[in-house]
Amino acid sequence: VFQLSVPLNFLGSVYRELRQSLLDMETLFNLQKVNVSIKEKEGAKALALPKGGEIKFEDVNFGYYEDRPILRNLSLTIPAGKKVAVVGPSGCGKSTLLRLLFRSYDAQSGRILIDDQDIKDVTLESLRKSIGVVPQDTPLFNDTVELNIRYGNMDAPAEDVFAAAQRAHIHDKIESWPHGYQTKVGERGLMISGGEKQRLAVSRMILKDPPLLFFDEATSALDTHTEQALMSNINEILRGKERTSVFVAHRLRTIYDADLIIVLKEGSLVEQGTHKELLEKGGLYSELWSAQERWGEEEEINAEKKE
Ligand code: ATP
Repeated sequence: VFQLSVPLNFLGSVYRELRQSLLDMETLFNLQKVNVSIKEKEGAKALALPKGGEIKFEDVNFGYYEDRPILRNLSLTIPAGKKVAVVGPSGCGKSTLLRLLFRSYDAQSGRILIDDQDIKDVTLESLRKSIGVVPQDTPLFNDTVELNIRYGNMDAPAEDVFAAAQRAHIHDKIESWPHGYQTKVGERGLMISGGEKQRLAVSRMILKDPPLLFFDEATSALDTHTEQALMSNINEILRGKERTSVFVAHRLRTIYDADLIIVLKEGSLVEQGTHKELLEKGGLYSELWSAQERWGEEEEINAEKKE
């Protein structure tokens, strides 16, 4: 028995590693197509987080094409352990920030630092392990719900998978599906809603428990109510945890309580502060806010009319 169990355990761990790297690939693909030119520096060290996850962009310039700059001389600091929102008009480069941080792409100039380490100097594995993303559109594998959550941490016992789903408020829903946690999802499985997909992504993130958390808010997948329920759920999960969390937000109502709001326009930082400070300032944020408040009222009126 002993002789047999060794190779089996070995195979098990190879299998888990393979699954984990598939997940990392998938996350990458989702953030944007994998860029094969991204290379790890020789002798790169693992990322360490002595400060608790402070993120700095220093004079970063980046464009997907040379003649079309997207980020222009962008400098910003996301303090460790805080809840930070990145907002700005559509196409200003919010999601691009995330892709650079994840090294799906490298900046053409400038530096990106996490706790004073240039992300180009650390191993890709340690960088990507430290970052959890709830993307705009969650990729699901053609596999069971349980495995889809477990991709967050292949070694987690089943109880932890269930606990994560409970904290993401999706456990009861899963139990109601035809085969519970063994229900197949993904393109060839059960059709589930955008909100349910995002909750599975949140469960995955809870299981992975990375020090740096990113939420790329969906532009249109979720209605306002579902989005708000998800946000209050995420706030509940983050409460009491020293985690740097960054929200790429479209709906300002979902992030007005952030410790810091960074406002981008055409790839540069135009202003930053708390919701209150930015409203008092009367700049771009306050313009975006009043515009959305007007839409919000119209949305509510329209919803009432329908009821
Ligand atoms: P939104 O609020 O609409 O989600 P955003 O601020 O997140 O937008 P990004 O997704 O960062 O904006 O995109 C910034 C610009 O880069 C846009 O003009 C977009 O068309 C362009 N862009 C994004 N991804 C790519 C890509 N893979 N190749 C080429 N251009 C891209």
